[in-house]
Amino acid sequence: MTCQEVADFLMDYLDGALSTETRAVFDHHLGVCRECRDYLSSYETTVALARSSQCDADDQNAPPPPAELIAAILSSRRAEAPAAPPDGSLAAESNSDPK
Ligand SMILES: [Zn+2]
Repeated sequence: MTCQEVADFLMDYLDGALSTETRAVFDHHLGVCRECRDYLSSYETTVALARSSQCDADDQNAPPPPAELIAAILSSRRAEAPAAPPDGSLAAESNSDPK
């Protein structure tokens, strides 16, 4: 089996659709070919990501946060901003530091 054939059979391999003989040849090639092992693992990762993002899209139990909530969080952060010490207080602190 060549690397090209491995790539062609990859989806059938992951679906378990290969015959026992073909799967054995496939596994043997993976055992001796590092490139195809890397290709298989990156392919599996891609498939897993695609499936998980698809699940998120179908999940109606997790709606995005309402715009009102986001606006409330943002405005409360803005309200806190003036409480942060201005640059002058930092200088005053370092002046009173008894080093
Ligand atoms: Zn290969």
